[in-house]
Amino acid sequence: MLSIPLVDLKAQYAAIETEMRAAIDGVLERAEFINGPEVADFEQRFAAFCGADFAVGVGNGTDALALALNALGVGPGDEVITAANTFIATAEAIVTAGARPVLVDVDPGHFNMTAEGLSAAITPKTKAAIPVHLYGQLAPMADIMEVARQHSVKVVEDAAQAHGAEYQGKRAGSWGDAAAFSFYPAKNLGAYGDAGAVVTKDVGLAATVRMMRDHGRTDKYRHEYAGGNSRLDTLQAAVLGVKLGYMEEWNAARRAVAAKYDAALGEFPWLTLPARMPGGRHVYHLYVIQTGRREELRQHLSANGIGVGIHYPLPLHLQPAFRSLGYGLGDFPVAERLAGAILSIPMYPEISDAQLGRVVQTIGAFDG
Ligand SMILES: *Cc1c(COP(=O)(O)O)cnc(C)c1O
Repeated sequence: MLSIPLVDLKAQYAAIETEMRAAIDGVLERAEFINGPEVADFEQRFAAFCGADFAVGVGNGTDALALALNALGVGPGDEVITAANTFIATAEAIVTAGARPVLVDVDPGHFNMTAEGLSAAITPKTKAAIPVHLYGQLAPMADIMEVARQHSVKVVEDAAQAHGAEYQGKRAGSWGDAAAFSFYPAKNLGAYGDAGAVVTKDVGLAATVRMMRDHGRTDKYRHEYAGGNSRLDTLQAAVLGVKLGYMEEWNAARRAVAAKYDAALGEFPWLTLPARMPGGRHVYHLYVIQTGRREELRQHLSANGIGVGIHYPLPLHLQPAFRSLGYGLGDFPVAERLAGAILSIPMYPEISDAQLGRVVQTIGAFDG
């Protein structure tokens, strides 16, 4: 039986092996493993890719979120609003910054925070909001930014799943006061290990994050902050620099795969397919279908060698880690219903028509 993974990083490597080896060898030969020239080069190119002015490479996406919040002055006593249906890192970063996560329910169509939801959750303690661009589609950022500005609430985009995604012609990373990206290996732009970046148009904020990621340094042994260490390795920057050159192509390929899935799976009325928000450019980090018989379909696909995932099975308000926030079952009905119905199916730029056909056929056989 031919198995088809959820994500195929080996296929990606095979396509860029020679170029990647040369980039990695260059770092090894020059032995500038920390703050090598590849870091600043990647930062500049990635900022431009996002339609922003600055990118500051950091250790991972979770740190990127926390550093952005810190640099915006979020701290103890503050509330930060985010979506209930995200990866735990979004809320962890709020806790790391010393603030309290306040969760909101999401839109059942596009899965993201809405401006109305944000508006209803704002209190005098709200310092910031983190809209998450889940699965590769931007939250409705024009309306979200308008509400945030009205209430002097800072916005950090969680763009960990949305490299190159757009809404109204503007990219993830160009909307908020800052944006946090993850380059975890399986993300649309992935390192060969952990990496992340804070992206912004604010020169002061970029400078603050730059200091915070590197021991609050202004000079080799002069420290303005007790910052810590969350630098982007030169090796990872070199890897990301090579892959950034393929991002437009790879995102276009993901969109083409999604269009094929849309057409083929549209034949099955018992499935709900991912909705595209008008005015958006979805980059399909994940292709997420819904069915009332999710567990049976998940088992059927797994048994037939098809890689599947659930992103995510337990909303944040029901996570043991956030018990102390005092939320309970029933608080965010859309996030709860989605958690029971969603299923991520194989999505990567290199998936072949034959593989895609087998995924569709296997799903079809479940219905029959
Ligand atoms: C991956 C991810 C993160 C965290 O990124 P790491 O680099 O793994 O720390 C944060 N938010 C979302 C939505 C993610 O998908």
